[in-house]
Amino acid sequence: MIVAIDGPAGAGKSTVARELAKKLNFKYIDTGSMYRAITFELIKRNLENSKDLEMVFKEIINSIELDFIDGNVVLNGDVLTKEIRTPLVDKNVSKAASSEVVRSFLSSEQRKLAINSTNTILEGRDTTTVVCPDAQVKIFLTASLEERAKRRYKELIEKNIKVNFEDVLKQIEERDKSDLTRKIGPLKVAEDAIVIDSTEKDVQWVVDKILSIVISKRNG
Ligand code: C5P
Repeated sequence: MIVAIDGPAGAGKSTVARELAKKLNFKYIDTGSMYRAITFELIKRNLENSKDLEMVFKEIINSIELDFIDGNVVLNGDVLTKEIRTPLVDKNVSKAASSEVVRSFLSSEQRKLAINSTNTILEGRDTTTVVCPDAQVKIFLTASLEERAKRRYKELIEKNIKVNFEDVLKQIEERDKSDLTRKIGPLKVAEDAIVIDSTEKDVQWVVDKILSIVISKRNG
C-alpha cells in the first residue's frame, strides 16, 4: 500500500509521516530530503552560483545514487541527516526544487522507491499529483497560514535562531505563492485526496485520523 501525504510548507507533513510510518511499520520516503541531498551535492561541488544550473544538475544526477534507510536519505552510500538541514541548504534548495531536470529525475526515483517497497509512506509536495497519483491513500494536509507560521517560528526559536514572527509569516506567504504558481509541480489538491486541516490540532490527532483512513482502506 502507498500512502501519499501532500500539502503546503509547515503543515506538519514530515512529523506526521514519520510517526505514521513507525506505527504502521511502513517504509518512509521524505521526498523533500532528496531535493535537499541534491542541493547538498551542488554546494559540495561549489556550483551553487553557476549560470547554467540545468547543466550542473544533469551532471550531478548522472553521478549519484540515492536511497533511503530508516527514513533517512542516502547519497552515494552516505546517510545524510543534519548536513541537509543547514541554512545554506535551506537558502539554495529552491534551485533544485524549480529545476525541470531535478524534478523529473526525482519524481521517477521516488515512484520507483515507493513501488519497490511493500508498504510506503510517501511524503512531500506533489506526491499525490505527480509522483504517485495512483496511491491507495492520498492525504492533503494543510493548516492556516498563521498556524504554519507559528510552528515555523517556534522551530526556529528552539534552534536559537533569532527571527521576527512577521518575517516568518511573510516568508511562508511568499513560499505558498511560489509553490502555487510554479510551472512544474505546482502545489494543488488531487481530485480524490482527503483534505485534513491540522489548525489547532496536535500531531497525535492527525496521525490517528490518517491511521483510521488507512485501516478502513485496508479492510476494503
Ligand atoms: O520539506 P522540505 O523543507 O525538506 O523540502 C525541501 C524543499 O524541497 C522545499 O523547498 C520544498 O518545497 C521542495 N520539495 C519539492 N517537492 C517535493 C518535496 C519538497 O519541491 N516533493
